Amino acid sequence: MRTLRSIAELRAALAEPRRFGAEIGLVPTMGAFHEGHLSLMRHAREECDTVVVSLFVNPTQFNESSDLSAYPRDEAGDAVLAADVGVDFLFAPPVEELYPTGFATTVSVSAITGELEGIHRGRGHFDGVTTIVTKLLNIASPDVAYFGQKDAQQAVVIKRLVRDLDMPVRIAICPTVREPDGLAMSSRNRHLDPAERFRATALHRALRTAEAAVAAGLRDPAVVQARARAELTSSHVEPEYLELVHADTLAPVATIDGDVLAVLAAWVGDTRLIDNHVITKNGRR
Ligand code: AMP
Repeated sequence: MRTLRSIAELRAALAEPRRFGAEIGLVPTMGAFHEGHLSLMRHAREECDTVVVSLFVNPTQFNESSDLSAYPRDEAGDAVLAADVGVDFLFAPPVEELYPTGFATTVSVSAITGELEGIHRGRGHFDGVTTIVTKLLNIASPDVAYFGQKDAQQAVVIKRLVRDLDMPVRIAICPTVREPDGLAMSSRNRHLDPAERFRATALHRALRTAEAAVAAGLRDPAVVQARARAELTSSHVEPEYLELVHADTLAPVATIDGDVLAVLAAWVGDTRLIDNHVITKNGRR
């Protein structure tokens, strides 16, 4: 695996495989790899001839500078893990390479970004995401780009971005990878102390509670949400939002008559966690 720092180097490295018709897969990440990231890389490795992983902690998607500075970074460790999975190129540019002096362009998806994470992290969060993803897609020109279902709203926003701007790339959404006790893997989990780590399992239980309620025949989202919310609060986990929304539009559903996305964000101590499950009408995924 080669680590590349500049756009020109990455484009040059991809020119040859592209000439020979190689299928190129891109996995955009912010590093601090865990099994969730590695599963995206494995999917890319299975499906593509050449695999590029970008590692860039994108400053424009953080609304709190303290959150940005606290973001875990371990490029050396990440490089070992990516190489083990068989990644070909790790693209890890400095900030100035992607945001040179005078940078003045924002790519913004309206609708779907003002809800859920958009309310709580600020609209600028998704503008930061869609701008950097557009740049990475332009830089690597992959055939397929891999994202995780863990960030459900981000997945919906990126699919919309690519569709609306006619970007010639397939967006692959890979399932959420979880710890054995159900906690969705996240770079932020390392901020949890042992007691918080234990309480954090309530997020998954809350989503399972919502599933069970739907499986039992409940169709009123407010009732299902209340049951799931009770599971969180009984574990002293403070929900920021917990909603049942349409899986493509992220609009709240009035009644549960098809697949819905149960999405939640919650604070466990000082750590903000998100999770989601797709719930089918009979309650199974
Ligand atoms: P991040 O480095 O947090 O920006 O994540 C990079 C990619 O990994 C995003 O597409 C995430 O949705 C995905 N990802 C993060 N955690 C998980 C997980 N537990 N399971 C699957 N994908 C994940």
